[in-house]
Amino acid sequence: MKELTDQELLRYHRQINLRSVDLDGQTALKNARVLVVGLGGLGCAAAQYLTVAGVGQLTLVDGDTVDVSNLQRQVLHHDSRIGMNKAESARQTLTVLNPNCQFEVIPHYLDESSALALVAAHDLVLDCSDNLDTRNLLNLTCFMQKTPLVSGAAIRFEGQVTVFRWLQDEPCYHCFSQFFSSNQVGQSCVEAGVLAPIVGVVGSLQAVEALKLLTKAGTPLSSQLLLIDGLNGQFRAMKLQKNSSCVVCGDDARTNSYSEIDTP
Ligand SMILES: [Zn+2]
Repeated sequence: MKELTDQELLRYHRQINLRSVDLDGQTALKNARVLVVGLGGLGCAAAQYLTVAGVGQLTLVDGDTVDVSNLQRQVLHHDSRIGMNKAESARQTLTVLNPNCQFEVIPHYLDESSALALVAAHDLVLDCSDNLDTRNLLNLTCFMQKTPLVSGAAIRFEGQVTVFRWLQDEPCYHCFSQFFSSNQVGQSCVEAGVLAPIVGVVGSLQAVEALKLLTKAGTPLSSQLLLIDGLNGQFRAMKLQKNSSCVVCGDDARTNSYSEIDTP
């Protein structure tokens, strides 16, 4: 267990002051290893707050390169980074934000061959991806490893956030994602559009949940889906039920193979 230096005690003072974080929580953050999958709008917002808040090690995963159309909402990337891998671009900005934090860059998309080992090497995973295949892969892999997963999504003026802890009576992503129509979940920001700060709100809330889990503060947003309606200024939490016949986490689930999980 690495202890906080005097310089870090000063740097994180406003956070250590919080009773539910305290020295123990801040020390836990310094020793935490967090996997961020996707360095688009959600990943940029979440990763910047995890970095400045003092998470010790962040692994950044993205196979995509920075495009001019990303700059409207992906705040870690700049004009000079167009064409650069997004995970590498994010690392360059994050290193400036907090030199105490260590970064590893995985300049590839997450796939079945790499997911298990990557998740196993981390204490917590943030799903900041924009596609259903990655969401399902992370859900199954984190379930198998019992690694907490903080999931976020954003489109148009809307967002959603939830947490999976893999407790006996709590649902997984697959438990409820099958009730969304494929049209709903298959839509991307490319077709539907997204308002810049909506990804910031969702990514920031993912960072809040991640920091709570790592410091054991408060009550995690599990078994609930927080729905953000930016257009009407409404936040609402929807209760999520575990599906006992879920192929991932249900009573008869056989989760020894990725191929058994169908996309909804
Ligand atoms: Zn399930």
